[in-house]
Amino acid sequence: MTLARMAVRTCNLIHRSFASIPHSNTLHSRQISMDAQSIAAQLNNSGFLRNQGLVGGKWTDAYDGKTIKVCNPATGEVITKVPCMGGRETNDAIASAYDAFSSWSKRTAAERSKCLRKWYDLMIAHRDELGQLITLEQGKPLKEAIGEVIYGASFIEFFAEEAKRVYGDIIPSTLADRRLFVLKQPVGVVGTITPWNFPLAMITRKVGPALACGCTVVIKPSELTPLTALAAAELSLQAGIPPGVVNVVMGNASDIGDALVTSPQVRKITFTGSTAVGKKLMAGAAGTVKKVSLELGGNAPCVIFDDADLDVALKGTLATKFRNSGQTCVCANRIIVQEGIYEKFASAFTNAVQNLNVGDGFGEGVAQGPLINEAAVQKVESFVQDAISKGAKVLLGGKRHDLGRTFYEPTVLTDVKSDMLISREEVFGPVAPLLQFRTEEEAIGIANDTNAGLAAYIFTTNVQRSWRVAEALEYGIVGVNEGLVSTEVAPFGGFKQSGLGREGSKYGMDEYLEIKYVCLGNMNFN
Ligand code: NAP
Repeated sequence: MTLARMAVRTCNLIHRSFASIPHSNTLHSRQISMDAQSIAAQLNNSGFLRNQGLVGGKWTDAYDGKTIKVCNPATGEVITKVPCMGGRETNDAIASAYDAFSSWSKRTAAERSKCLRKWYDLMIAHRDELGQLITLEQGKPLKEAIGEVIYGASFIEFFAEEAKRVYGDIIPSTLADRRLFVLKQPVGVVGTITPWNFPLAMITRKVGPALACGCTVVIKPSELTPLTALAAAELSLQAGIPPGVVNVVMGNASDIGDALVTSPQVRKITFTGSTAVGKKLMAGAAGTVKKVSLELGGNAPCVIFDDADLDVALKGTLATKFRNSGQTCVCANRIIVQEGIYEKFASAFTNAVQNLNVGDGFGEGVAQGPLINEAAVQKVESFVQDAISKGAKVLLGGKRHDLGRTFYEPTVLTDVKSDMLISREEVFGPVAPLLQFRTEEEAIGIANDTNAGLAAYIFTTNVQRSWRVAEALEYGIVGVNEGLVSTEVAPFGGFKQSGLGREGSKYGMDEYLEIKYVCLGNMNFN
């Protein structure tokens, strides 16, 4: 197959991965703005555009009446305003969650399971509205946003089923007059802090297992993307989940975070976001010795060996790099290619990236939306400039997109070295840096040379090598010949400074359970 045909085929595959169809034109900005506004108006009319927090089942404003604007990252237009809450509202939400815990935790697993299943059904029934909200406030292409709804809802479905499987143990006793039991019980009120890049899925993979175990939650979504969280909370009420079980506050992040980590009534903090904030929350939670789960930043290596199937490697690398315009913690951050295939890969990859259509997430065929805000674009610019100043070459892009503001051109850099900023930290944008290696040992060394350890990818057709390298990588997740690996049935989480604990899968339940040992003594069993 020629490189050009391979690139076109790969591009089609990537569009399918993003659930999006290629289209040659980007939208005019005035047209974008009108579309987004009419969609927001429709969502408002149908009750999906909520603009209050949820405390104890009541839609609530900030006590001092302050608000924050929620803006469409593609246009900069204000979608709506939500309350700018702080410690007082959070303490009331904690008190509501604490009250609700006593009855929710006593419901049978089957009852909790039914409520969660109903919630899942409602999310799926309203996938279009939830997807539109995600595109409006976060920017990702609509089909990718609807894909997030399906992915996010899958955690609610999966944990609705797991609710019925929280088994204890009976331990053979060392003494004849005793019987030893292990019970698993819900940990209590859970403080849930989530980022903007997956406005729904980062919530559901925490709240699904928490509610399944019998816990209640206070959710703090990012102030940049609170609308999807609020719509999901409204659906939780419609599903029959009792008031107080799910609470949502947003606004002043550090005040809300402080209230959650210091409250003795909150027994668990679960956080997805930056490593810096995660460390702060972990330190804060030490004061009341809470359970803590952290899903933090990554610096994913994507290692392509000479023996890789080039088509598979191109498809997988494009998918992992350019999903959500490069704004995921598992996006390939360093594409490390063996010298024998380097030039060929760089050329075919650049051709494929060139075909990614950039535009407003509501535009037809758009595969790359805006970045979340101008600060994100400035960060990408500074990383690219640092790389260029240290010898990297721009094969494609390397600058802001003509659409302006929050749009950045899909970019490919070659001659990237390990000491460049782009190799050391997450770029969190549509920039693919290509590094070169000679031996397998060297590739493993480069891949592991980071404090992060979330996701890694390898592409090879050698089975022994795939096992050997997967075992040597210091990462919580390894994709072999696959760039999109997240699923509700598999454990998601990192080694090293990428976090603590696992989300999804049967392991995800353990994070919300206490183990209680019961010793039944002084019994005459004869
Ligand atoms: P962030 O700044 O850490 O924000 C994450 C959440 O923490 C937001 O809700 C934010 O609120 C809140 N927050 C900020 N400062 C806080 C404080 N002092 N106390 C309590 N909460 C605070 O991260 P981000 O830039 O939004 O998200 C991107 C990061 O998330 C990347 O590093 C990415 O790798 C990571 N991530 C990790 C995973 C994973 O599973 N490992 C998944 C997705 C993303 P406001 O937004 O309202 O300020």
